[in-house]
Amino acid sequence: MAELGIPQNTIAVLQKYGFRFQKKYGQNFLIDTNVLERIVKEALVGPEDLVLEIGPGIGTMTQYLAEAAREVVAVEIDRNLIPILEDTLSAYSNVTVLNEDILKVDIGALVRERNEGRPVKVVANLPYYITTPIVMELLESRVPLENITIMVQKEVAERMQMGPGSKDYGALSLAVQYYARPEIVANVPPNCFMPRPNVGSAVIRLTLHKEPPVKVRDEHRMFQLIRASFLQRRKTLANALANAPETGLTREEVQEALQKMELSETIRGEALSLEQFALLSDLLPV
Ligand code: SAM
Repeated sequence: MAELGIPQNTIAVLQKYGFRFQKKYGQNFLIDTNVLERIVKEALVGPEDLVLEIGPGIGTMTQYLAEAAREVVAVEIDRNLIPILEDTLSAYSNVTVLNEDILKVDIGALVRERNEGRPVKVVANLPYYITTPIVMELLESRVPLENITIMVQKEVAERMQMGPGSKDYGALSLAVQYYARPEIVANVPPNCFMPRPNVGSAVIRLTLHKEPPVKVRDEHRMFQLIRASFLQRRKTLANALANAPETGLTREEVQEALQKMELSETIRGEALSLEQFALLSDLLPV
């Protein structure tokens, strides 16, 4: 099968099958061999690895992954792509395509069955409409993962890397940094895709921590507080947390904890680091 990273070959496959792009599935296929090579290199995929690919499309990146890895499992929601993938990946005996919604796949079971529970690598040019739910599901599921190398909207990649003091810092930054070390490894312009997205893209590698960088008594409670403080990010932290019924907190309780931390009572959540959110969570009543 011809290399799909070359635009003419992608066009030929799309025409052969009369494929119509579905906007609702965030379909922007890669048509740049340099970018494809770069992603697989930055994902540090080797011959021992099981790779989980989310959204293979017509199999462009899957071909590169199949060359580099021991085994690839590719999960694609669009059933119209399945016959195309059977064709474009027919030369590879180490690829399994599952016609499923990634948010409904039991990734833990898949890793146990196919990789004896050893950590897998996730590589994907993600559908942008569900980037955050996919990333959060992967991080929170506690599935053994070594790294996650994904193409996402440039602004989202930047948000994942941000620290306190930036307007882009938020719940996603804190969640990603609690579980992993994020590194933007490439910026990718719209002309590397077909059709072109109307946003810039970036490849980000999340290397999972062996141990979280901060200790907290109850991480679910910490993330509940983080979400509540960024939902009303222009309010003071004390007001934002007291206004969110799920926290069960009063303004006075939050102010008291802030005093113990030697922080201003009028501080906003966006000024707190991950370490400070962990401490705050431990100081507040549950
Ligand atoms: N990997 C291909 C490439 O780079 O050319 C396609 C990437 S395209 C940005 C995203 C792919 O994810 C599409 O093939 C789309 O159909 C698929 N997709 C969208 N939502 C999905 C979901 N919930 N589960 C699995 N695949 C999904």
